Amino acid sequence: MCLITSNEDLINSLKKAKDNKMQTVGFVPTMGYLHDGHLSLIKKAKEENDIVVVSVFVNPTQFGPNEDFDRYPRDIERDYKIAKEAGADIVYNPEVEDIYPKGASTFAVVDGDITKKLCGASRPNHFKGVTTVVNILFNIVMPDRAYFGQKDAQQVIVIKKMVRDLHMKVDIVVCPIVREADGLAMSSRNVYLNQDERKQALVLNLALAEAQKKCKQGNTKVTDLKAFIKETIEAQPLAQIDYVEILDAQTLDEIKEIKKQALAAVAVKFGKTRLIDNVFIDS
Ligand code: AMP
Repeated sequence: MCLITSNEDLINSLKKAKDNKMQTVGFVPTMGYLHDGHLSLIKKAKEENDIVVVSVFVNPTQFGPNEDFDRYPRDIERDYKIAKEAGADIVYNPEVEDIYPKGASTFAVVDGDITKKLCGASRPNHFKGVTTVVNILFNIVMPDRAYFGQKDAQQVIVIKKMVRDLHMKVDIVVCPIVREADGLAMSSRNVYLNQDERKQALVLNLALAEAQKKCKQGNTKVTDLKAFIKETIEAQPLAQIDYVEILDAQTLDEIKEIKKQALAAVAVKFGKTRLIDNVFIDS
């Protein structure tokens, strides 16, 4: 197990595994400040691969100008320890210049509606930053499999599309959302929440779970379910809704009625903290 900061060291460390074609590399890209959600990805990667690389990189290009890039929580020593305990073989913690060489001006962009709705609407360049960094990280690590969380549902769909469209030789494995005991989806950003915000943030999971139940009971009209989720969230005085959407789970297309699996997704701000959550629903 080692902590690596330079691309060269990483490539050399992985060379042996790459030369020995029997060894597979599993990759878990993260922005660090690891929690049990990240650990579930690392453990899954360890089950399925010989070598597991976890990257810890707070990627500047996926943050908007007034977002939390500067104050995003960082603690590489803690991350290293936790990742090691979960089974990681290498923690890769590059500097911005290692990822974006001076003068870099090349981006990987997934065009079209899927990057413009949901988080793409309020964070216009977010997915351009995500797909670019994931592309660069894939080129450096060259994993056989890469692990992503369903917590970032739109990110999963966008990355799968990029991998498909660009014929990238990596399998994308999606892991379920890990929640706190009281239902709040784990996130590195949860540390920003004060006590009242933390308490009221539980409404995200509650509203989504209740909508899921309603749908199972035969309430399949999207406008009604969205209205229900909105009202439930708005009942919490600190909640400011960014979006509440119910879309086709595979394509993110608009739907009116839930006939097959749909994705109910929300983004809500509590104070300065923007949280996202989602659930699959079907009748
Ligand atoms: P982040 O460090 O927030 O960029 O997340 C790195 C990876 O961990 C992404 O694929 C996320 O979707 C995943 N992840 C974050 N939180 C959770 C969670 N609560 N459950 C499952 N996966 C998660």
